[in-house]
Amino acid sequence: MKIIQNYIDGKLLNPQENQWMDNVNPSTGKVYGQIPLSTEIDVEQAVQAAKRAFPAWSSTPYTERSRCLSALADLISKHADALALAESIDNGKPVSLAAHVDIPRAESNIRFFASAINHFSSEAHIMENTAINYTNRKPIGVVACISPWNLPLYLFTWKIAPALAAGNCVVAKPSEITPQTAYLLSELCIEAGLPSGVLNIVHGDGPTTGNAIIHHPEIKAISFTGGTSTGAHIAREAAPKFKKLSLELGGKNPNIIFADCNYEKMLNTTLRSSFANQGQICLCGSRIFVEEDIYEQFKSDFVAKVSKMRVGNPTDPATKMGAVVSKSHMEKVLSYIALAKEEGGEILCGGKQVIPQDTAIAGGFFIEPTVIEGLKYDCRTNQEEIFGPVVTITPFSSEVEVLKMANSVEYGLSATVWTENLTRAHRVANELQTGIAWINCWLLRDLRTPFGGTKSSGVGREGGFEALRFFTEAQNVCIEL
Ligand code: NDP
Repeated sequence: MKIIQNYIDGKLLNPQENQWMDNVNPSTGKVYGQIPLSTEIDVEQAVQAAKRAFPAWSSTPYTERSRCLSALADLISKHADALALAESIDNGKPVSLAAHVDIPRAESNIRFFASAINHFSSEAHIMENTAINYTNRKPIGVVACISPWNLPLYLFTWKIAPALAAGNCVVAKPSEITPQTAYLLSELCIEAGLPSGVLNIVHGDGPTTGNAIIHHPEIKAISFTGGTSTGAHIAREAAPKFKKLSLELGGKNPNIIFADCNYEKMLNTTLRSSFANQGQICLCGSRIFVEEDIYEQFKSDFVAKVSKMRVGNPTDPATKMGAVVSKSHMEKVLSYIALAKEEGGEILCGGKQVIPQDTAIAGGFFIEPTVIEGLKYDCRTNQEEIFGPVVTITPFSSEVEVLKMANSVEYGLSATVWTENLTRAHRVANELQTGIAWINCWLLRDLRTPFGGTKSSGVGREGGFEALRFFTEAQNVCIEL
């Protein structure tokens, strides 16, 4: 049994009310650990530790904060294999994905903000012969970072790194479904000598622990990534208390394929953008629109490739497709496949739960990668976030038509466009109601760029200096000459 503890005031602690939850391995369906169900008592302890640490941390030279974060990044690199294995066991994702994407990205998130703080500057506004204004960007104080289960350490570090670099002290909660790597990170924080109370990691569920965090009066800003309905709940609770909010929420991303695309590159990348991490990435393209001239060819080539994909033991380095994160999530995804059939969709491949032959993982939560056609663009299957290995394919005849379908959803996180026509690429990108538009690529990330969604996909932007601006309060200082 792996026992996870809270990390509060530099120490690893059991929850004060001694309540625990099971941690399930999604590839076996078995409980393999226990995690704290922290209550408001633990959250209070974490907030007070952060508050005590704030005066020293916020006045620590930025170069020293940068050094502390770099030391933490070095330790992530040193323990990368153990972290990748832990992520794979906890989440069900292939260990190869964790080793090539999740853990290197967690390391580079921390390294990036350790460096970015050295280059973070502020504005001055000169009123000729009258006054000089300068913007004094100050850390906010105690801030909260709440992250989801799909990219556990990757998204956790994406939030805490800019918060800490900017001089805040943090109370953070990873998802109760995937707490393992955040726990390992707390051990690394101790090893790296991060001052006590600067980062506090409190484990538990959303309704108990998460709610205690968002309601705490001394938490002045909340950076949240997760589902849109949870984001709406947090916004409702936090807005009247005037907490600063950054919300990165759900997506239902279009993948628009024009007939003049680089076909082979498009086909291989579309396979990845559909099914990487079992389709559980907020940026996966789950609605594939294909220009009618190449629709039949695409359909047959894509389905042939998807039909060859096999789920396997996530901890086997050869596995490309692992388990979905939980039983309830598997049931949700399967219910959407049933809905797609009711709505008149035809399942071209997949569509079912998989019970693996390998007895070691027979109790796990596996779903066949699934391709569906024949659905209207505005049916529920094409409008609601499924967040699993399920995509729909739809033909289109014109740019106007595909933009109407692509923009018809309540979400606006990302889109991918495949065309060799440069003018059209710019035109379509500009018309897309999304925070990110990838042209002839997918998930190509430059950490300096603004990251986030429009509409119900969120409020605010992460990434680069945007994140450092979020985690600071701007004060205008005006000096009359
Ligand atoms: P949830 O919204 O269920 O949970 C996200 C986090 O919020 C978890 O830590 C959860 O805790 C916590 N939480 C739940 N309820 C509350 C509450 N009342 N108060 C405070 N915290 C709470 O999302 P999922 O974990 O299911 O993640 C999947 C979602 O995340 C998808 O919609 C996906 O699109 C979105 N996402 C968005 C990204 C983006 O950048 N826009 C990136 C990645 C994912 P617990 O799990 O312990 O209940």
